[in-house]
Amino acid sequence: MDLESLRADLEQLRERALERIAASTQPDQIEQLTVDLLGKKGELTLVLRGIGALPAEDRPRVGAIANQVRQAIEAALDERGRELRKGAVADRLRDEALDVTTPGRPIPRGAYHPIAQTLARIADVFGQFGFVVYESPEIEDDLTNFQMLNIPRDHPARDLWDTMYVDIPEHLLRTHTSPGQIRVMHAEKPPIRALLPGRCFRYEATDAAHASEFFQVEGLMVDEGTTMADLRGLLDQFAHALFGADKRTRFRPGYYPFTEPSVAFDVECLICGGRGCPACSHTGWMAILGAGMVHPVVLQYGGIDPERYQGFAFGMGAERITNLRHGVGDLRLYLENDLRFLEQFR
Ligand SMILES: [Zn+2]
Repeated sequence: MDLESLRADLEQLRERALERIAASTQPDQIEQLTVDLLGKKGELTLVLRGIGALPAEDRPRVGAIANQVRQAIEAALDERGRELRKGAVADRLRDEALDVTTPGRPIPRGAYHPIAQTLARIADVFGQFGFVVYESPEIEDDLTNFQMLNIPRDHPARDLWDTMYVDIPEHLLRTHTSPGQIRVMHAEKPPIRALLPGRCFRYEATDAAHASEFFQVEGLMVDEGTTMADLRGLLDQFAHALFGADKRTRFRPGYYPFTEPSVAFDVECLICGGRGCPACSHTGWMAILGAGMVHPVVLQYGGIDPERYQGFAFGMGAERITNLRHGVGDLRLYLENDLRFLEQFR
């Protein structure tokens, strides 16, 4: 090892070091280069190990050159490091910029289920005629669900309701909202104007028109001098409010054990306007609900004197009404919780 080759090594080291520093692109590369070039085991230290083999008079000259190389490398590291850090800060400022003019993210807004909307609409219409909403239990006793509604245990009319029992024979899931009539009559004195919306249950095979779980709305009016004409007028107002004031309506004979006489209430077909089409089975009419004058026996079970008071009752399926309002053809959609369906009713 002589002075000239050591000097040449140092020059080469400086040259290569400056190239690597200039080529670096990240601040942490500068930190790594500082260690690699100037650290205790760095390249400059390695080269300077040769200094011990030189004659004593040459050593200070090599030391002076080595100092220049070190200072040049330090200066380059320092400058490039500052450049890169500035760039990194600029990058972060750009990447993490907060645009305060960006519109906020909307919070998704919920909506009432279409059945709930229909129940609210029905309550709204009848509410204008003084009807008050009552609640009635979903688990009923046989007495209230059937017997007090003039359907004894052995009565063939029980075949109309495929019943799900909680414990046989006393408790069951109510098959209709009609037992609410009895509960209201026990709780209130005439005049009574009650509306009883709620969930009902029957042992049914599910298809587009049947479900084992569904909603009904029951109405009950009891007062002195209540007649079929009052019932007809009220139901006309209801049909006109929901389906349009120009819609014709009709009564036709029906059968329920707890009303006498009983009727079915129809509105003219909403699709064809009464001319006849597949939607109305070519009759021109669509059934909305069943109704009738409360059977005197039922009034008696309700603790009301049928000689003094008369009443009418009506009951409708909320799914049916919702189908007619919105043109839905399959009531299974209401309980499937498919948002693509439900979001149409916002
Ligand atoms: Zn029709």
